[in-house]
Amino acid sequence: MTGQIGSVELVLAGGTIYAGPMDDPIANGVVVVRDGKIADVGRHGSVSVPEGAKTVDCSGLTVAAGFWNSHVHFMERKWADAANLPAPEIAVQLEAMLTRYGFTSVFDTGSPWENTRRLRERIESGEIPGPRIRSTGEGLLGKGWLPPEAVLRTLGVMLFPLPEVTDAADARAAAVKILDGGTDGLKLFAAAQFPPYATLPAEAIRAAVDEAHRRGKPVFVHPTTREGLLAAVAGGVDVVAHTTPQSGPWDRTVVDAMRQANVALIPTLKLWRYLLRHDRASLGDTQTRTSVGQLRAWLEAGGLVLFGTDVGGVDDYDPSDEYALMAEAGMTYRQILASLTTTPAERFGESDRRGRIAPGLAADLVVLDGDPSRDVRAFAGVRHTIRDGEVIYRAEQ
Ligand SMILES: [Zn+2]
Repeated sequence: MTGQIGSVELVLAGGTIYAGPMDDPIANGVVVVRDGKIADVGRHGSVSVPEGAKTVDCSGLTVAAGFWNSHVHFMERKWADAANLPAPEIAVQLEAMLTRYGFTSVFDTGSPWENTRRLRERIESGEIPGPRIRSTGEGLLGKGWLPPEAVLRTLGVMLFPLPEVTDAADARAAAVKILDGGTDGLKLFAAAQFPPYATLPAEAIRAAVDEAHRRGKPVFVHPTTREGLLAAVAGGVDVVAHTTPQSGPWDRTVVDAMRQANVALIPTLKLWRYLLRHDRASLGDTQTRTSVGQLRAWLEAGGLVLFGTDVGGVDDYDPSDEYALMAEAGMTYRQILASLTTTPAERFGESDRRGRIAPGLAADLVVLDGDPSRDVRAFAGVRHTIRDGEVIYRAEQ
């Protein structure tokens, strides 16, 4: 390390660089970071390296743009009272869930907004190293859909009220209230998560979606069932936050409706086995196979995919299996990298600022131990996570 105090320059030298999902890898590459932005990128020798810059030796490693996890939650009890939790404790928790896996941007799709807002403020002020957070705040759901308090306690989540809606008028009112609070989007449960799986009326979904779109904000949906998925897509949602394995395979009708509505899909393939971990092994196998098949059908139709794992809704934070299952559904490492970088940047209106390693873009970077073109699980083996030119995670050597 040759860094000087106060230096705003950082050089990543010697790694294989995946500048963008469709670009050819740059062997023995160099990334120069200045003032939190990418200043230059290219082959060793073709890029002028500033003298005295802090250098990270990336020989034998892989460098990619910072990852997005587009489906996370800050609702476990560990995040409560975020305004006053000790900074080092928050840092440890953010590392365990997100930064150690390379996530520099996340979309929180359901949490007590006021608390998440304070967490974000403390990260953005520079007090705590962490990812850039976007949030939908509290999700809208139907009346009586929230599990009983005892169940929520057992699930380890904070107890916070969610707006229950039954028709277009109260869906609109709830959406206005949440969006007026300053959230970055809206989350809807289109169907209950428990039998008999009631579905929100299409006009209620439409009313909430219209409020969000009027403000240029995206709407995420938890579809649960085929009916919920079709109602949400008809209602104009932007992001389907899960596959729906309990509905059985997606037929032409479902896939065409999703394609026509130009939604993006967050598959959450690994989630189903986790949720069924107390049930017969065969049930987990079946639902995993079905969700992988749903993603395959979506890919064959040319659908967009966003990476997301529902961490914080579940406490198994390791994304390795998700990458492996995405590959099983037919995704190449390039397609998985797009789901982690360029596709979310485009969907959430940030492609002029991040998503690729290119001069002028934010220096959000991930340094990987392995090469994901050989084994996609390497996406989970992170050496360094860098956000806006600052190292926010460094693996123990
Ligand atoms: Zn979730």
